[in-house]
Amino acid sequence: MHKTLVTGGAGFLGSHLCDRLVSLGEDVLCVDNYFTGRKRNVDHLSGKPNFELMRHDVTFPLYVEVDRIYNLACPASPVHYQYNPVQTTKTSVHGAINMLGLAKRTNARILQFSTSEVYGDPQIHPQTEDYWGNVNPIGPRSCYDEGKRCAETLFFDYHRQYRTDIKVVRIFNTYGPRMHPNDGRVVSNFIVQVLQGEDITIYGSGQQTRSFCYVDDLIDAIQLMMSGPDDLIGPVNLGNPGEFTMLELAEMVLKLAGGKSKLVFKPLPADDPKQRKPDISLARARLGWEPKVSLEDGLKETIAYFRKTLA
Ligand code: NAD
Ligand code: UDP
Repeated sequence: MHKTLVTGGAGFLGSHLCDRLVSLGEDVLCVDNYFTGRKRNVDHLSGKPNFELMRHDVTFPLYVEVDRIYNLACPASPVHYQYNPVQTTKTSVHGAINMLGLAKRTNARILQFSTSEVYGDPQIHPQTEDYWGNVNPIGPRSCYDEGKRCAETLFFDYHRQYRTDIKVVRIFNTYGPRMHPNDGRVVSNFIVQVLQGEDITIYGSGQQTRSFCYVDDLIDAIQLMMSGPDDLIGPVNLGNPGEFTMLELAEMVLKLAGGKSKLVFKPLPADDPKQRKPDISLARARLGWEPKVSLEDGLKETIAYFRKTLA
């Protein structure tokens, strides 16, 4: 049985990952500072003999004995990561150093939740892992993008310098139940707006594209990566290659949630990537993985969740 640490485990993705690991019988330690995560996301796990929750900020060292580490701690929504950008960079960089130090001492395998944001506003399409990206180092998104890029550097340097057993995945926009209603990301924003009868806020023309992966598909891939072959350290793109404009997404949410909301157009935030779509050939070939849940089916599940929680 693995002794597993999940940082950021009370957040959206972290709580789904904890569910999966607990159901597999792993001995799970979930740490979180509750900046964007919530205890209620993992409430249903408290009381299970193989689950433990600890308040901890990963910018401080952590001394525990584990053999697997999933490093998720970091706000992921632009609204939240720009709220305290210095803390965002510290979380990515000091957090990575602390968790890599822990992995080095305990000989644990450590998996980093990196992001498609390392590609910035990409000039190649779809994005492959060998693309170095187009990131503004001094803009409002840089605390997150450059923080995550530096974390990747640290992972690969720990691997080269100390042979630390690393895995790095680059996750493209993922959505599903347990996103925070005020998260600020587009899927939760549109659903909450429609369910509350508010206008749908389209930033810019709405012609920018994203690829949306349902959370269950992503957790499958994370598990395959963590248990995958030693030589597959990544980075590996994980996401759903379906590509949609924000206008198409808004129309789909309106149709599925049955609302009457109108579209209102707001300014496009600085450095907002124009298009994004993962090339997942590597994940297909090495992990035998590809997403199964269509955007329509995933949205239905997510709408049902918000309908219940907002009621
Ligand atoms: P989230 O905001 O719901 O989860 C982040 C969690 O980290 C929260 O529980 C938060 O409280 C915790 N946290 C933040 N700073 C911390 C600190 N200093 N110490 C301890 N805990 C801290 O976001 P999410 O969507 O679940 O994202 C989880 C991870 O996946 C992040 O690293 C994010 O960069 C990465 N990721 C997510 C997506 C996505 O679309 N959801 C895409 C790419 C990468
Ligand atoms: N977006 C939007 N309306 C919203 C929230 C976001 O049009 O209410 C747009 C945003 O400008 C971006 C896309 O949706 O082009 C995805 O934004 P999100 O914050 O979800 O993720 P990211 O930009 O990090 O991919």
